[in-house]
Amino acid sequence: MVKAYYEKDGDLSTLDGRQVSVIGYGIQGRAQALNLRDSGVNVEVGLRKGGASWKKAEEDGFKPLTVSEAAELGDVVMVLIPDEVQAVVYASEIAPGLKKGNTLEFAHGFNVHFSKIVPPDGVDVVMVAPKGPGQMVRRTYLEGFGTPSLAAVEKDHSGKAWETAMALAKGIGATRAGVIKTTFREETETDNFGEQVVLCGGVSELIRKSFNYLTSEGYQPEIVYFEVLHELKLIVDLIQAGGLENMWNNVSNTAEYGGRTRGPVVVDSGTEEKMKKILADIRSGAFAEEWMSEVAKGVPNLDGMRKKGSDETIEKVGKELRSMFVKGEEATSAAR
Ligand code: NDP
Ligand code: MG
Repeated sequence: MVKAYYEKDGDLSTLDGRQVSVIGYGIQGRAQALNLRDSGVNVEVGLRKGGASWKKAEEDGFKPLTVSEAAELGDVVMVLIPDEVQAVVYASEIAPGLKKGNTLEFAHGFNVHFSKIVPPDGVDVVMVAPKGPGQMVRRTYLEGFGTPSLAAVEKDHSGKAWETAMALAKGIGATRAGVIKTTFREETETDNFGEQVVLCGGVSELIRKSFNYLTSEGYQPEIVYFEVLHELKLIVDLIQAGGLENMWNNVSNTAEYGGRTRGPVVVDSGTEEKMKKILADIRSGAFAEEWMSEVAKGVPNLDGMRKKGSDETIEKVGKELRSMFVKGEEATSAAR
C-alpha cells in the first residue's frame, strides 16, 4: 500500500514568518487562500486589477495586490491561475519577484513538467493538488474535514521542500483527509490521460454516440437521455463509494450480466491501442504543444467545438428535462 500522510505529518510552524502569496482567486485560489487564512497562515492574494475576482477577494476581506507585488512579497508563491495562462504570467509578473529561498507552488504539474515554466535555481518547486474542485476544498474544510490531495517536490533547494508542501497541504485541510506523494511527471501524465480517456473525453463521447444512435433508431430522446446520461451519476456514486465490484453488487443481475459481457465489446483492444497513442502524445509533450498553440491562437478550435456541442440535440433535451424535474420536484414538495 502507498503511504498516506496525515495531520501529524504536516507542521504549520514551517510557515512561521513566511509570507504566502496566492496568485489567482478562482476555483482553487479562493478556496485555498481562505483555508490557509483560517489555518492561521499569513496569506496575501495576487490578482490583476479590474478582473472579476479582485472584488471577490475584497469581499472576503483580502486586500488584493497585483501579481507582481504578491510575487515580490511572497516567500511562498502559489500559482493558482489557469494552466494555459501560467507561463505568460509567470515570465512577466512572477519570475521577477522570486528570490533564493522562495518556494513556488502549483496545484497541477503541467507547466513545470513540460518546461513551460522553468523556475530559477535556489527556488523550491512543490505541488499540492487537491483531488476535488475548489468548492469541495472549501466546504470540506469548513466541515472540519478536507479534500484528499497529491503532493510532490520537483526541486528541493532548501532541503525542506517536502516540509513546506506538507505545511501547505495541512493549511488547506488536505492532511485531514490524506495526502499521497507523487511526482510532477506522474501527476501530469495520469491527470491528462484520465481526463482525456475516461473522465471528460471517453465518458462524454460514449454518452453522445449512444444518444445519437438510439434517437436515430426512433427512441424518444427524453427516455434515451435518462438511460445514457442522467443515470450515470448513480453509477459513478456507487463506483466512487466502493469500487467497481460495489457497483456490480448494487445494480440488477441483468445489468450486471449485460454490462460485464458487453462492456469489453464496446471498449476493446482497439480502444487500448488508442490509449497507447494518447499516452504517447501526452508523454512526448505533443499534446501540451498542441494545446499551447491552440491557446496562442485564441482557442479557435475549442470555441468551434463548444459552439457545436451546445447546438446538439442532447443539450436541448437535457435542458428541457432538467426544467421539468425542478418543476416536478417543487410540485411534489408543495404537495407534501
Ligand atoms: P480558475 O480558472 O478558477 O482561475 C481563475 C483565476 O485566475 C481568477 O482569479 C482570474 O482572475 C485569474 N486569472 C486568469 N487569468 C489571469 C491572468 N492572465 N493574470 C492574472 N490572473 C489571472 O483556475 P482553477 O482554480 O481551475 O485552476 C488553478 C490551478 O489549479 C490550475 O493549475 C489547475 O490545474 C489546478 N487545479 C484545479 C482544480 C479545480 O478544481 N478547478 C482541481 C485541482 C487542480 P480574474 O478574475 O481577473 O479573471
Ligand atoms: Mg518572492
